[in-house]
Amino acid sequence: CGIVGVTGTDKTLSILIDGLKKLEYRGYDSAGVYVNDNAGNDYLVKRPGRISNLEAALTDDVHGLSGIGHTRWATHGEPNEANAHPQYSQDNRFYLVHNGVIENYAQLKKEYLSGVHFTSQTDTEVIVQLVDKFVVDNHMDTEAALLKVLRLISPDSSYAFVMIDREDPETLYVAKNKSPLLVGLGDGYNMVGSDAMSMIKETNKFMEIDDHELVIVKPDHVLIKEFDGNEKHRDSFTVDMDA
Ligand code: GLU
Repeated sequence: CGIVGVTGTDKTLSILIDGLKKLEYRGYDSAGVYVNDNAGNDYLVKRPGRISNLEAALTDDVHGLSGIGHTRWATHGEPNEANAHPQYSQDNRFYLVHNGVIENYAQLKKEYLSGVHFTSQTDTEVIVQLVDKFVVDNHMDTEAALLKVLRLISPDSSYAFVMIDREDPETLYVAKNKSPLLVGLGDGYNMVGSDAMSMIKETNKFMEIDDHELVIVKPDHVLIKEFDGNEKHRDSFTVDMDA
């Protein structure tokens, strides 16, 4: 299973697909992408099976300046189109890819999400519906809502997340716990991926992500926050492929 995210380039879709192919070695049963052109158009395409199935489903109109891609190794819900990621909130505002397992998803669903319409059997969908709930019902901003959700996830859970808010599609909201995820710094655009190889065609400059951080990735800027909202600084590093 694997994750790729991109913001700030019209090469977004090809970077996502190339990245997912580089992550095929990690194993998967389905794949999907969400892209947004920052001009009011967005596209969600998911398919069970090979990445070539997903590619075959990408019609010429699918394009974007930012997006997220996922290969899934099913843990909750069979490998079908509905359970493939990205998962999304019932108002189609938030899109999320996730690798890992949310151990307390059933309890979160019961406590906060009665009456919410679910389209999948995944633990992941609970997280994206919960962010939406806090934004829409509790009038929190997206960052505050996601920080609250991250604090509610039980610490025995594992996750690598990338989320897009359709109302601010150039921002990637990124977090991890016990699952790999890395920022890649491009020239005028930025990326995230499960490993450096998934981005190496585009850059050799990376930034680590630690567990228990919210990383906000924009085309020209990366901001790291602790779960209490405090900002953190981190230097990037360069990988020399010829070394
Ligand atoms: N637990 C999630 C699911 O079953 C994510 C699986 C994965 O790591 O790909 O959909």
